[in-house]
Formats: sequence, structure tokens, C-alpha cells
Amino acid sequence: MNGPFDNALAQLSIALSKIPKAKSEKLLQLLSRPERVVTVSIPVKMDGGNWQIFEGYRVQYSSTLGPYKGGIRFHLQVNLEEIKALALWMTIKNAVVGLPFGGAKGGVVVDPKKLSKVELEKLSRGYARAIADVIGPYKDIPAPDVNTDAEVMGWMVDEYIKHAVKDKNTLKAAFTGKSIKDGGSEGREQATGLGGLYVLQSSNRSPLTPTVAVQGFGNVGYNTARFLSENGLRVVAISDSRGAIVAKQGSGHWLSGLDLDLVAKIKETKGSVSAFAHEDVEKISSEKLLELPIDILVPAALENVITKDNARRIQAKIILEMANGPTTPEADKILRRRGITVIPDVLANCGGVTVSYFEWLQNLRGEHWKLEEVNSKLKTKMQQATKDVLATAKKYKTDLRTGAFILSLERIYYALK
Ligand code: NAD
Repeated sequence: MNGPFDNALAQLSIALSKIPKAKSEKLLQLLSRPERVVTVSIPVKMDGGNWQIFEGYRVQYSSTLGPYKGGIRFHLQVNLEEIKALALWMTIKNAVVGLPFGGAKGGVVVDPKKLSKVELEKLSRGYARAIADVIGPYKDIPAPDVNTDAEVMGWMVDEYIKHAVKDKNTLKAAFTGKSIKDGGSEGREQATGLGGLYVLQSSNRSPLTPTVAVQGFGNVGYNTARFLSENGLRVVAISDSRGAIVAKQGSGHWLSGLDLDLVAKIKETKGSVSAFAHEDVEKISSEKLLELPIDILVPAALENVITKDNARRIQAKIILEMANGPTTPEADKILRRRGITVIPDVLANCGGVTVSYFEWLQNLRGEHWKLEEVNSKLKTKMQQATKDVLATAKKYKTDLRTGAFILSLERIYYALK
């Protein structure tokens, strides 16, 4: 199986093949490699007194539309190819939603579950120090991603500001996804999930009271499940890295959807959603969850989970890609032939970066917006981005992913000129 960066380049080249050669050649030159790759070593004194060196990356892919923007991932599987792919997808995503940002991504090779809180803070601060020279409110603005959250952003922005000399207040804008006390925005934590709901609603593709399976129950998976369920959809299956559960068909849980607060509580106290025990609920494997007879499948974990090997067995009618890069290009072809609609990551999950943009604006202007204002602006942005992607896909007679890529490429090309 190809790696995520090969997949991202394959998606790019499909979109480039649909636009005039004069444009596509220039865009290919511009977007086939990142503008800058930074590799850092982060020494951390562990609780036992020994030192451990962690490897980290920041990939600044494109700055054509503005300062680089993209999250930071802490995961054992992090590698440079993955971060390059995620940075290219950020470039496309920011252009799809019309934000004045280029694309970037960062990551550290670490299993954060094995670190104590003190070690995690040292690592976060060490990473921020290591990349401090290449980031800033007008250069590159990181945010949370897998296994990083508002607390991690708080440590990083604090460390970054400590080393700065001027206007410490505005410098808060160097990171987004912070907690409110550190200068974060209302609504940022749930923004990716809420954005997913708005995109689904505006795509006019959702059947009535559909059943939903969600892979991944972290920030994005949990919040997406919550907003879908609050809006009449039935979330009947959920997984995390340790297992999956599904409501038995026809049972009370199937008819009303799983009790998400209870599932979240069980995950918090017992470490996994699979510890949910009820006669109406079965344990299954995370792979099996993808193939359930439901209406909407929501991948919200990692890359490359829908592949040529399982695409023929997917029964959902719609895939709402809340994770980045969950579907490989080969799987995309199979799904398209089978009439399954894929609402692509570069559209579906752009709610997070959109509210990150609002947070950045608030920090630079010294403002703090109310939650209703943030959510209403988010809704407008998501509706417009969805409308633009649908129109582009229609115009070029392509699937939604290629439509989203073409829309971005047109915006990047216009900015270049
Ligand atoms: P997170 O760390 O909060 O949660 C990740 C979840 O995925 C966890 O529940 C974990 O147990 C689960 N998981 C890991 N491997 C799994 C597997 N093999 N099967 C099932 N579940 C598995 O991370 P997050 O912020 O929710 O990010 C999830 C995805 O959404 C990533 O692809 C990320 O890039 C993307 N994303 C995040 C944001 C954001 O604002 N946080 C924005 C846009 C896109």
C-alpha cells in the first residue's frame, strides 16, 4: 500500500489532469514538494532522571495564500512522509474554505500515553522551543491534532512567548486551539465536529434519520458523533484504538442510537469504548465497524483505513471523512463505481481550522467573540465551502474530492498570478 504522501500526490495529480496545461504545470511545480521541512531533536529529562531524545518535524508546505497553518500530532507512527501528506492536505483545505493561510503540519514520534504529565509538558515545551524560529502569528500558526489538545497548545504558546521580545499579547496568535484562559476561542474544541455536521447538512445528501458508525472517539470522533446525534442521526457504532461496539440491529440502542455521554464516560474511566457492556450492544473489531450496514460512515481516526482491500465491503451510502486521508485513491475509485458518496476530508473536517482562523483574528485584534457568533460564522463558512465544492465538482463532472482540489488549485493559481 502506498504511503499517505503518495496518496496525497495522486489526488493532486487527478485534479491537475482536469485543468488547462498552462496552469497545471505551474501548480505541479509549486505543489509537488514542501517549501520547507524542519526536523528537530527534542531532549527530555524523564521522571526517572534519564534523558530521552524525541524526533519531531514541522513541514511548511505552501505559503501562497498566507502564513502556514496546520496542527501538531503526537503519535508513534508519525514520520516525515505522513507529515508531508497532512501538510499538503492542509494547503488544499485552507484554500477550499477560503482562509488566508497556506498549509503546514507538525508531529513528534512518541506514544504520549506512556509519558507522565510532567514529561508531556517538557516535550511540548521542547518542541515549541525547537521550532520557535520558524513559527509566529504571521509565519506559521500550529494547532492541535491527534493526541494534542488545548493544554498542550497552552504550554507551547507559553514557551514560545517566553522567548519573544515584543508585543507578548499578540503573540498568543502564534498557536490556535488554546484553552479560553490562554487566549483560545469559544467553540474551537468542538469546531471540527460541528463543521462536519454543517457540511453534511449543506451537501443535501443525507437520508432521513440515518444510522451512523464513527471510527475514532477522540476530539473529532466524539464531537462529530455528538452533533450528528443531537440533530436526529442515530450513532449506532463507535470505535477507538482498543476496540469497537455496535448496537444490535432492531434493539432499543439501534433505534435511538448509543448514549454518547455514557460511552464517553466509559472510555474515560475504563480506557476504551469497548468496555461498554449492555445486552443490546456487541463488541466487534475496529475493521468490522467500517463494513457495517449503516447509512453514514465517519472515519475520525487515522489515514489509510478504507483501502482497495475493504472498499468493496463498505455498505454505507455516504462516507463523511472527518479524519485526514482515511481513503486511498484506489479505494476512492471502487467507492465511486459503487455509487458511494465520499465527502472528502479537505471539506468535511475544515471546521477546526476555520475556528482556528477566528481565534487567530481575535488574538490579533484583542477581541473575544461569543460562542453564538463563532458558530454562526462557522456555519456560513462551511455552507459556502460546501456550495463551492459541489459547484466545482458539477462543472468539471468529477467526484467531490477532485472538485475540492480543483477549487483550491484555482484559488492558489489566482493568488500566484
Ligand atoms: P484524538 O487524538 O483526539 O483522537 C483520535 C482517536 O482515534 C482516539 O479515540 C483513538 O483511540 C482513535 N484511534 C486511533 N487508532 C485507531 C484505530 N486503528 N481504530 C479506531 N480508532 C482509532 O485526535 P483528533 O484530534 O480527534 O483527530 C482525529 C483525526 O481528525 C485525525 O486524522 C486528525 O488529523 C483529524 N483532524 C483533527 C482536527 C482537530 O481539530 N483536532 C481537525 C481536522 C482534522
